[in-house]
Amino acid sequence: MADGKSFLIDTTKCFACRSCQVACKQWNELPAEDPVPTNRGSYENPPDLSASCWVKIQFKETERSDESLAWTFVRNSCRHCIDAPCKQAAENPDSITIDEQTGAVLFGEGTASESYSKIRLACPFDIPRQGAGGQLFKCVMCYDRVHNDEVPACAKACPSDAIEFGDRDEILSMADARLEAVKADGFPDAVILDRRDVRLLVLLADEASLYSLHTRD
Ligand code: SF4
Repeated sequence: MADGKSFLIDTTKCFACRSCQVACKQWNELPAEDPVPTNRGSYENPPDLSASCWVKIQFKETERSDESLAWTFVRNSCRHCIDAPCKQAAENPDSITIDEQTGAVLFGEGTASESYSKIRLACPFDIPRQGAGGQLFKCVMCYDRVHNDEVPACAKACPSDAIEFGDRDEILSMADARLEAVKADGFPDAVILDRRDVRLLVLLADEASLYSLHTRD
């Protein structure tokens, strides 16, 4: 695997168009949400990840400590953890595999449905969701595309280059360079979440509490 692959999610470039959400559904042939979500007074839709929604842009409106308004967007999906807690928690750990070429964490059909509560509880980011048939679902890093020298559908669809994908060492270098640039651009609290532990690196311009996202700490 060498170091495998990684994503960089640069929230400073995301404008919440949700092309990534749509591209994920399209490539993976995921059905529409059932029941159809209703208007909840937010641009965020659907309200949560699900067995048929593996990538989601999460919105949050809140106040900063100086009482200015913060309206943030951030992508939520599996982080493809380096030492995946979901695999460690599964009753049948062999049913969760690590793709040799990419490092993607993949749930097999044999992932015992009775492990669901343990697996979901073990995930620091609250990602796995269970389908009607008991099988567990989440982002699969479009490993089929990557094996054919294509980037994941979400990265291809993003019109603002907010989703970068590539060899892990290159993505780590890119992330560090972007972090320095964003800090120098007037965002001293910018941070990359869980840099050493995950394959989906998220760069936030502001403190993490302003975003609708589970973090490891
Ligand atoms: Fe497993 Fe959750 Fe990590 Fe994905 S984010 S690899 S589901 S522990």
